[in-house]
Amino acid sequence: MISSSVPDLRLRTRNAMPVREDGDYVLYWMIASRRTRYNFGLERAVAWSLALDRPLVVLEALRCGYRWASDRHHRFVIDGMADNARRLAAAGVLAHPYVEPAAGAGKGLLGALAARACVVVTDDYPCFFLPRMVASAARQVPVRLEQVDSNGLLPIRAADRVFTTARSFRIFWQRVIGEHLGAQPAVDPLKKARLRPAAPLPRAIARRWPAASPALLEGDPAALAALPIDHTVAPVPRRGGPGAAGEELARFVAERLPRYLEGRDHPDAGAASGLSPYLHFGHLAAHEAFAAVARREGFRAERLGRPGGGVVRPSGSREGFWGMSASAEAFLEQLVTWRELGFNAFALGASEGDGPRLSWKRDPTDYESLPDWALATLAKHERDRRPRLYPLEALAVGATADRIWNASQVELLREGRIHNYLRMLWGKKILEWSRTPREALEVMIELNDRYALDGRDPNSTSGIFWVLGRYDRAWGPEREIFGTIRYMSSESAARKLHLKEYLARYAR
Ligand SMILES: Cc1cc2nc3c(=O)[nH]c(=O)nc-3n(C[C@H](O)[C@H](O)[C@H](O)COP(=O)(O)OP(=O)(O)OC[C@H]3O[C@@H](n4cnc5c(N)ncnc54)[C@H](O)[C@@H]3O)c2cc1C
Repeated sequence: MISSSVPDLRLRTRNAMPVREDGDYVLYWMIASRRTRYNFGLERAVAWSLALDRPLVVLEALRCGYRWASDRHHRFVIDGMADNARRLAAAGVLAHPYVEPAAGAGKGLLGALAARACVVVTDDYPCFFLPRMVASAARQVPVRLEQVDSNGLLPIRAADRVFTTARSFRIFWQRVIGEHLGAQPAVDPLKKARLRPAAPLPRAIARRWPAASPALLEGDPAALAALPIDHTVAPVPRRGGPGAAGEELARFVAERLPRYLEGRDHPDAGAASGLSPYLHFGHLAAHEAFAAVARREGFRAERLGRPGGGVVRPSGSREGFWGMSASAEAFLEQLVTWRELGFNAFALGASEGDGPRLSWKRDPTDYESLPDWALATLAKHERDRRPRLYPLEALAVGATADRIWNASQVELLREGRIHNYLRMLWGKKILEWSRTPREALEVMIELNDRYALDGRDPNSTSGIFWVLGRYDRAWGPEREIFGTIRYMSSESAARKLHLKEYLARYAR
């Protein structure tokens, strides 16, 4: 009945309700892949619209009652809602950007829209409150609810086990990536789609759940100030949304990618992509980032071929797999190995995995999901004397005796990010300065997820748990507090890194 190019592995039907062919429209509930390009979910919804000859309605909603909701995260997401509403309207799609004016006010909106829909399509994002929200929707939506995974180059369910090291995951993806790169999302699923025009939303729905005001969408601070969210975490200077994401990607590939390998670790080099907030909110697809790099590097997909049929043999090595420059390969190591490793942990973690086949039987956000060796060494050193302890309040404002750490916290406060190398050091010092490793975990989550635009993501959990030993091995010598957990110090960072301008900018 429907001809859709979305790979089966990326598609899940979440309830047993039928498709209602005489519904008024197809509903795409955009909750994670907040973009119109390279989006398998939107592609699926467009395919349903064409197959059923019904208009497409896109609900992009933003709740305000979730933990850490603030001006910063809201502004960034709403910038994207404005971009998306414009692009959808230009393609004849009815966009309903809805921002909750009060916690819980949006309750009932999805149900009301779904009641008149033929089918509902939504995104499959395996982290934060989204899986619970979709599971609850699946129990209420009166028509078929499909969930589509547009998270990465690999479908999040491509693997059948949780990987505990980056190397084992790399060996896996190198074996199968050729097959998955052959099933790319459409660059612009709305282009030439010729969808039936949508009527305005029923008045009762539009009155009770009105679309976000033009003032809010276009960035009026007063409109944001009226929302019941944390106003102490201010918006950052950079704009959110697919438009800004595309510009940042183009600048990165043209100007910084050639320096990525040499410069990534050095805060003064400014060589990293800065794409993580856009990837986190779905304003940018990993597929689009990959395509931009591949184009610049003259990459040919035939190099990979189908499993076993390509030119390259998967070796598990970090370099040489793509046949691109060393800088491009280093960037893809982050974008593919490290980023998708985090999604693997969430997609196949205990909550949804099927037990016996998994090597990891706990929720990846539980302290106990750390590897046994890490749990043992942290427990052994839990009672070691801590020369310095800082309360959360002192850490939050960057008021420690460590100038580099304070600078990285100030960067987080002002920009909503921390330079990658310093982010590792930032976490290691929190472990050193906390009463227990569990307390360190809580502090890292609280600071990261409150202030970082890319927080509340599978990579937040990967990075924070990496500080405590996940995806790592034991390192000697055994030390106080850390045991055999990898140690990092500000003194060594000061020696190794180009930091002068960074400190001038952020150190008080
Ligand atoms: C304590 C700690 C907390 C972290 N919290 C987050 C977080 O909340 N959200 C987040 O996206 N990343 C997090 N990371 C990982 C990493 O620091 C950031 O992804 C990276 O710094 C983002 O900057 P960039 O986009 O310029 O990265 P680039 O170097 O340009 O890398 C490109 C992309 O690859 C991915 N990536 C890069 N490094 C890593 C990594 N180590 N692990 C997983 N994916 C990676 C990101 O999606 C990134 O945008 C954390 C790391 C640590 C040590």
